[in-house]
Amino acid sequence: MPALRVLSLYPELMNIYADRGNIAVLRARCEWRGLGFEHAASSLGEPLDEEAHDLFYMGGGQDRDQVAVARDMAATKRDALHRAADRGAVVLAVCGGYQLLGHSYELGGEELPGVGLVDLRTVREPGPRLIGNCAIEADLGTGPRVIAGFENHGGRTHLGPDERPLGRVIAGHGNNGHDGFEGVHRGNVIGTYLHGPLLPKNVWLADRLIELALGAELEPLPGDELEQAAHASARRAAGV
Ligand code: GLN
Repeated sequence: MPALRVLSLYPELMNIYADRGNIAVLRARCEWRGLGFEHAASSLGEPLDEEAHDLFYMGGGQDRDQVAVARDMAATKRDALHRAADRGAVVLAVCGGYQLLGHSYELGGEELPGVGLVDLRTVREPGPRLIGNCAIEADLGTGPRVIAGFENHGGRTHLGPDERPLGRVIAGHGNNGHDGFEGVHRGNVIGTYLHGPLLPKNVWLADRLIELALGAELEPLPGDELEQAAHASARRAAGV
């Protein structure tokens, strides 16, 4: 029986908005289908075996915790994460984790290093936090779909000229409140501001990530049509 092997990065520090619910959904969606599920963690000072996991996950975090995580991740995990991404492993990072996927997160005159998996910079610019419900339209290779979530970030993220966003904003703020885009998507590396937690609100996305991580196709599960109907009505309400 194939197993999805998930590694949580800094789970005790990067976990606001119950982002561990994302792991619970990945586990449930695997187990309901008879697939195995293995979960491990890697935190401050710990090395990372890039071959031992199919999906690398990092949740949101407060600026304070991001300081310690950013420095540690650049020092102890950057190279392994690049090798994992290069061989097609899935990397999913939410909000505070997303901000650390790029080159840097600048806050209060300090520049935290990112791991440079994608071409983006995040800056704590003056202005209110970007807070509220958010819906985007994204295509992960199976046609345009809605991803719904909740965002709450002070940092504004700016993608480099050749970098692709995860989706376009239907409602909410997105990466920076200006350009109408949300998240980042390069190969199987995905970053997004959407908490919810993300995967309980978008089980199609959980399934798609499992497919990409295992290189397998999954059948829908009973009840998935309820999510599809909710997302379709969100699109109609937004006129898209
Ligand atoms: N601390 C970051 C910010 O405020 C990320 C917050 C979060 O993960 N929700 O921009």
